[in-house]
Amino acid sequence: MAGTVLLTGAAGFVGSHLTDRLVRDGYRVLAVDNCSTGSWDNLAHLQGHPQVKQIEHDVITPLEVNEPLDWVMHFASPASPPKYLALPVATLRVNSEGTYHLLELARRQGAQFFLASTSEVYGDPLEHPQREDYWGHVNCTGPRSVYDEAKRYAEAITLAFHRQYGLSVRIIRIFNTYGSRMDIHDGRVVTNFIRQALRGEPLTVYGDGRQTRSFQYIDDLVEGIVRLMQVNYPYPVNLGNPQELTVLALAQVIQELTGTASAIIFHPLPQDDPKQRQPDITLARTKLHWSPQVDLRTGLAQTIADVRRRCLSS
Ligand code: NAD
Ligand code: UDP
Repeated sequence: MAGTVLLTGAAGFVGSHLTDRLVRDGYRVLAVDNCSTGSWDNLAHLQGHPQVKQIEHDVITPLEVNEPLDWVMHFASPASPPKYLALPVATLRVNSEGTYHLLELARRQGAQFFLASTSEVYGDPLEHPQREDYWGHVNCTGPRSVYDEAKRYAEAITLAFHRQYGLSVRIIRIFNTYGSRMDIHDGRVVTNFIRQALRGEPLTVYGDGRQTRSFQYIDDLVEGIVRLMQVNYPYPVNLGNPQELTVLALAQVIQELTGTASAIIFHPLPQDDPKQRQPDITLARTKLHWSPQVDLRTGLAQTIADVRRRCLSS
């Protein structure tokens, strides 16, 4: 056995893929989730698996675990803008109180701690691409602050536990990630466009579509996570695919890959929507010898197939 991992957010998109990988690598996984934005359906294929235990729990409150832990990995949080805007207090609390309780659990257990942070800590960035030493440009009272500021706090308290108690910690800043098992109704751009294209509905581009994002396929993210587990580096590491494109270009690629007849329509841009986002991954390249391997069209084709399957079966 490689060790025991308590993974929060395990029933979500990223968490379920990470569970698969950890199980494959020989870990026992205590999969914790309250299913506020995820679903145990994402782990249905591991039901009854001897290395997996599902624990339904809201990590805003402390969790008692009666077995030794090697890792506490905190991935629980609403992640799509419509979801965290609909759950503002829960989002702040899971990343603040939740992070604190899980850090305490790791400290009590002598476990290592791993935090899923986000490129949103850079806010609407004025430096481009974003390196880990950029402090960001965040509206600390705007609607998105419930996510951005909560993750900034989560990073701060994680490093405080490292500095004050010597806790072994890791922090990743995840850039827009996509792949199978995303909630097709949670409002993120990749699944919105694919769902709309497959249903023959117009693709809803917000603003003029000239804002940019850099989309990473889930398998690349998971590989970066497991590599960082092996490297003793406590400071934030960007994990993302530097291939940047406009949201309008993304809509056009999805039109082409799905072969849809759907048109593109324009809706108002949400408040404080970042205008540009691209990771500088020099740190991950040098420390983890990691770089994304899956190009956008290949990853989107897989994701389209997954959404098609789920749209047809629902
Ligand atoms: P997701 O919504 O699919 O998964 C999040 C999971 O956390 C869900 O299963 C949800 O039910 C669970 N959860 C939320 N609050 C909880 C609570 N209080 N107690 C227990 N469980 C709770 O989102 P995701 O895309 O898989 O995101 C996972 C993590 O990665 C999040 O921390 C998110 O901030 C981070 N992240 C993701 C992306 C991305 O592009 N997917 C980008 C940046 C950061
Ligand atoms: N977006 C869009 N149409 C949609 C959903 C999102 O144009 O149906 C835009 C959104 O305004 C943002 C980008 O796509 O500029 C990425 O949005 P998402 O919610 O996926 O993630 P974000 O990077 O904003 O957290």
